[in-house]
Amino acid sequence: MPLSTLAEATFDVLVVGGGHAGTEAAVAAARAGATVGLVTSALETIGQMSCNPAIGGIAKGTVVREVDALGGLMGRATDLASLQFRMLNQGKGPAVWAPRAQCDRGLYRRAVRTLLEEHAGIHTIQGTVARLLLDDNGKQVSGLETLEGRRFAARAVVLTTGTFGRGKLHIGTTAQIAGGRAGEGANAHLGEQLDAAGLETRRFKTGTPPRIDGRSVRYTNLVVQPSEVEEHDWSWSHFWDAPRRTGERTRHPDQMPCWITYLEAPGKTLIEQHINESAMYGGAITSQGPRYCPSVEDKVVKFPHAERHQLFLEPEGHDTRELYVNGLSTSLPATVQLDILRTIAGLENARVTRAGYAIEYDYYPPTQLDSTLQSRAIAGLWFAGQINGTTGYEEAAGQGVIAGINAARWVHERDPFVLGRESSYIGVLVDDLVTRGVDEPYRLFTSRSEFRLTVRQDNALARLAPLGSAIHLYNAREVAMIDARANAERTAIQLAENTSIAPSQADALLEGTGTAPLTHAIRIAEVAKRQGVSLAALFAAAEVGCELPRDAVITAELELKYAGYFVRERRAANRLATMGDTVLPESIAYEGLLALSTEARQKLAARRPGTLAQAASIPGISPADLQSLVFELERARRLGSNIR
Ligand code: FAD
Repeated sequence: MPLSTLAEATFDVLVVGGGHAGTEAAVAAARAGATVGLVTSALETIGQMSCNPAIGGIAKGTVVREVDALGGLMGRATDLASLQFRMLNQGKGPAVWAPRAQCDRGLYRRAVRTLLEEHAGIHTIQGTVARLLLDDNGKQVSGLETLEGRRFAARAVVLTTGTFGRGKLHIGTTAQIAGGRAGEGANAHLGEQLDAAGLETRRFKTGTPPRIDGRSVRYTNLVVQPSEVEEHDWSWSHFWDAPRRTGERTRHPDQMPCWITYLEAPGKTLIEQHINESAMYGGAITSQGPRYCPSVEDKVVKFPHAERHQLFLEPEGHDTRELYVNGLSTSLPATVQLDILRTIAGLENARVTRAGYAIEYDYYPPTQLDSTLQSRAIAGLWFAGQINGTTGYEEAAGQGVIAGINAARWVHERDPFVLGRESSYIGVLVDDLVTRGVDEPYRLFTSRSEFRLTVRQDNALARLAPLGSAIHLYNAREVAMIDARANAERTAIQLAENTSIAPSQADALLEGTGTAPLTHAIRIAEVAKRQGVSLAALFAAAEVGCELPRDAVITAELELKYAGYFVRERRAANRLATMGDTVLPESIAYEGLLALSTEARQKLAARRPGTLAQAASIPGISPADLQSLVFELERARRLGSNIR
């Protein structure tokens, strides 16, 4: 009997999992014109943050803006749920600003579900997927079946099951619990089916810190970190809704502070004493964990001379006093965790609400996928998120968008939608995954991109909306908003180019930036090219452009400052691409090349590639690292020396 008669419903695309990859995949597929069934183990956990209730940060914040530019949920949900906002890197100038928000965990989850259900084409279904239904001798997907015995048909399925594939939680060396994350069951069936189908599976690990009862904290001497939420929005989608300068913002809940404290010598000593009881150090876990989210055990072992380690106490939401102890990820026994917490200033009487733990899970090496994230082995099957060996909500969301759009386009027999590295961090992420693969949980950094000055958080909409428009991702209202935003940026640039500013207007503000005073009136655009000089301040001094939105003025300023860089960045990237045969002498002392990332230095020193192309194929060696390496080679050649 054909599946369509056995199936309860037929969709264009089925998405398995309601996490960050799954929800974005569903929305992206729906925007790309597909009918979508989102099947997830518990509807209440749609949009659940497994670890830290925070979105964004360096490079990740740019991905959120890119997901948002392509119509995704993450930025919109974060605007609705932010209880603490900070723009990181503000001291370094707007080109490298990085938005980061602490969210109300419950509000975020509910916001994702509400926004998801606004799409008429998405049907949410509670069920744990037990197996895929396959045609053509197992080479083509045709639907899925849940543990509850429900069947659904579709030509495309997107798998986004996160850390749930044969997940195992570890606390200490004796407590091992099967689970996808604390309190939720693991899933073995799908993994067994994919093994049998010949897909390669490997294991990674990650960890999370304990949570504590905020009522047990002594806040008196802790450093308070306030929010900057009134300054910024994540999403362009409410561009004209509530102009910021009128103070009418109501999107987010009331703001809450975070607090800073430290793990000091007594806590470090306890960790050293109990290190063999840690799941990660006592031999219970052998798989690779994320280099850049180290456990506190890792920090103490690898940096024995660090006097102390900074910790952030982050609120979990308005509906609870629970705090997340950011920086204290651990798999030590629960009793030891409590003892360590009580050595920390402010936490002397801390009560633990949830113990920290580590988790091991299956992932599928992403070199098994094509550039749309479709499996090469099984047609119609896409993979997105943590199951591809990445870590982080934002990386998962970015992959979800690409998988969702492409699954829909594949069903409708349209061309693939692939983002180039020069267009976005999402393009870098997918390209890195499918061409180099991963040998440790992959997260994004600005250094992974060779286009760091032109691919910024402020210009995500300008970069990606034309691509999204070309494949009809937006509704008419959104198109009008995108046009309005682009017009505002153009107006700001034209105003800067057509308006002169007199020395009497500019000199007071130039004095503060350490650049030379003006000798005569000069176009604002010229003055705005100077480092440290803001276009908004120049407009204010010249008394023009006060009606323009702040975000549009910032983008205009950066476009003026970095106008020539795109060509330069592209030229450097092209040059690198032609240098694959360049020989890397055996004598290179990689440890001393401080312009390279630590990861690159360690991996190059360990593997000693013979050519630049071989170096480029090592997971984790970024184009920025390769550029630095070429620079060092050329310098050594000029000086007639070896790189040492
Ligand atoms: P998930 O968010 O895990 O979502 C998977 C979804 O699939 C869930 O809704 C689940 O219910 C559903 N599902 C699973 N199996 C099935 C099935 N068979 N049928 C139906 N539905 C199914 N990231 C960091 O960046 N830094 C960290 O420090 C960090 N620490 C972490 C600590 C822990 C303990 C965990 C669990 C994760 C941590 N992460 C961390 C990772 C981060 O949570 C993930 O990168 C992110 O959630 C991945 O999103 P995803 O959509 O791929 O998967």
